[in-house]
Amino acid sequence: MTAQPPPVLLLSKPQVESLLPMDECIETVATALSTLSRGESVQPLRSATWLPDRRGLLGTMPGMSGGDSPTLGIKIVTVFPGNHPSGNGEATALPSHQGVVLVFDARRGNLTAILDAESITALRTAAASAVATRALAREDATTLALLGSGVQANTHLEAIRLVRPIRRVQVWSRTAEHARAFAQQATEKWDLPVEAVPDPRTAVEEADIVCTVTGASEPVLRGAWLAPGTHVNAVGACTPNARELDTEAVRKARLYVDRRESCHSESGDFLIPKAEGALSEDHIVGEVGELLLGDVPGRGSPDEITLFESLGLAVEDLAAADRVVRKALDSGLG
Ligand code: NDP
Repeated sequence: MTAQPPPVLLLSKPQVESLLPMDECIETVATALSTLSRGESVQPLRSATWLPDRRGLLGTMPGMSGGDSPTLGIKIVTVFPGNHPSGNGEATALPSHQGVVLVFDARRGNLTAILDAESITALRTAAASAVATRALAREDATTLALLGSGVQANTHLEAIRLVRPIRRVQVWSRTAEHARAFAQQATEKWDLPVEAVPDPRTAVEEADIVCTVTGASEPVLRGAWLAPGTHVNAVGACTPNARELDTEAVRKARLYVDRRESCHSESGDFLIPKAEGALSEDHIVGEVGELLLGDVPGRGSPDEITLFESLGLAVEDLAAADRVVRKALDSGLG
């Protein structure tokens, strides 16, 4: 008789969310980034299949996150920015990022789990920014600026307040009504003063920590607005031709990345100033994983501006998925 492969665990968005609280996700992503920088993971570049009219794409992100619990798998995600309510009546109720994470047994290759990717992406991306913020922002950082008011703005607020004593938040969004709605909901949810502001400059000038979480392809953050000592998490621009930061913002900051190779291939925030001749290769101080391992220096003084350029990595998805799967098996969920 042939042995049957073990059953495949199926985990929905609410199940992922209930099994992956943000504080645990932050520690999981911190470990994943250090493991990657120690050279124990496998992280190919992702690929994107664009629709001919570039309305959306199908991204495939394979990898193996190493360490104590090696996890082999792939995230398959569609990115359709037009799904987000844009204020022009064309939006759908669907999120802009949707997909699945497929997890395979790293010893035998059988499929072990299928997880909702929308929730994992929302959580692990903010967790990566929190890891960078914990390592790089000033200890006394209390004011947060969010540029963007979508899914990532929401999880970033949740994550950043876990690593710094945030007492005030200012949010700017392209559609003013979205910033207002976000501010109202977030104030109630987090019992924090969250204020919508009419322009990004106002939010950035008064901030200790800035998160850019927009779908912009032209700069929404200008270096001239950044006060000494600010830490920036640049999250929204993940293709070589799109950027959220102007050249000055990147040039004047100590730059850390999630993965050097991804930055060289995917980061418009880095590649566009580099093509202009404003930066050289050695402007990248290091990977956040290298920083956590003590292999590269961190913030050198309270006045320095630090910048984390987040491209998003499969090893973050897979480490998060592995944690969710192990907890689901323990609790009989899925
Ligand atoms: P949402 O669709 O939920 O929200 C999109 C946000 O971007 C909205 O606040 C919207 O503003 C704003 N926006 C869209 N286009 C523009 C523009 N041209 N100029 C200024 N603002 C704009 O997306 P998410 O929150 O899920 O993702 C935000 C960004 O982060 C996306 O670009 C996404 O691809 C990227 N991302 C990066 C990841 C990483 O690992 N680095 C992982 C996941 C996402 P408004 O509503 O006010 O119009």
